Amino acid sequence: MFDKIRDVLHKFGESITTKTLDETDLSDNLSQLELNLIENEVAVEVANYIVTSLKEKLVGRKVERGQKIDTIIDDALKDILKTLFSTTTSIDLFSIIETKKHAGSSPTTVLFLGINGTGKTTSIAKLSSMLKRKGYIVLMAASDTYRAGAIEQLEIHSQRLGIRILKQRYGSDPAAVARDAKTYALQHGYDVVLIDTAGRMQTSTNLMEELAKIKRVSNPDLTVFVGDALAGNDLIYQAREFLEKVGFDAIILTKTDADVKGGASISVTYVTKRPIMYIGNGQDYGDLIPFDPDWIISKILG
Ligand code: GDP
Repeated sequence: MFDKIRDVLHKFGESITTKTLDETDLSDNLSQLELNLIENEVAVEVANYIVTSLKEKLVGRKVERGQKIDTIIDDALKDILKTLFSTTTSIDLFSIIETKKHAGSSPTTVLFLGINGTGKTTSIAKLSSMLKRKGYIVLMAASDTYRAGAIEQLEIHSQRLGIRILKQRYGSDPAAVARDAKTYALQHGYDVVLIDTAGRMQTSTNLMEELAKIKRVSNPDLTVFVGDALAGNDLIYQAREFLEKVGFDAIILTKTDADVKGGASISVTYVTKRPIMYIGNGQDYGDLIPFDPDWIISKILG
């Protein structure tokens, strides 16, 4: 995980050998670092932010006797990465569910967005499983009525996990499926409704309009964008489109287990100003873990 980005950052540390860090000594190395970050699919604005921040933190620093340059650079990078992963909002799904439960206003409705193949359905199944283990009653809504096999795919998870699914025929109005699921959940005492949606190309105007309609009709407590870490810069592009056209509150970043570059993971929060809520790190139901910036920073810096 993140092997390449880790190499890039370490190489930068090793390249600095002077005892006083001045701008001329640093500038070639910083330019190289910026290029390497971009090559590893860190978004250009984010690579620029990292390099500018590093420069501010390092220029003029004297390296004291016994002090290691690597440690100074590592500490500076840690600070910068922390800023990249921080947003003003932090989202705790469980506290949203509990608050609604205590107020007698369940179900909590969560709407999932993302293009095909990013891991939306799998993430919904993983989250359902996690919620069930915590004792919540979950309903899955099959609002992808477009892609052949989408309903069956959710149905298989529903059978394996023993979680109810609400579905209609292919071609039905996905917003109606979401609304019916919410009404059903309200009448039958469900705690949470998780709404799966279609995900053609993010450039499809129809898709964006359809998703915006589902969102309007289902009025979710939380809208979650599911993004594939392996998609690199394309993930950032998709996230921007979904944010602008539909809007979302949080991110699930999937396939981090196979992500050697790490660039998209680093960039997505900075670009969207939305927090990563969970990361997917495998194909099993248990492979969904709450996002912890310190954990991911330790993976990136090694
Ligand atoms: P959807 O089209 O967005 O609903 O995507 P799916 O849920 O069908 O997932 C597409 C593929 O990605 C499937 O083969 C999943 O098993 C796989 N997948 C999903 N999440 C992860 C993950 O976190 N790690 C890995 N390695 N594979 C994942």
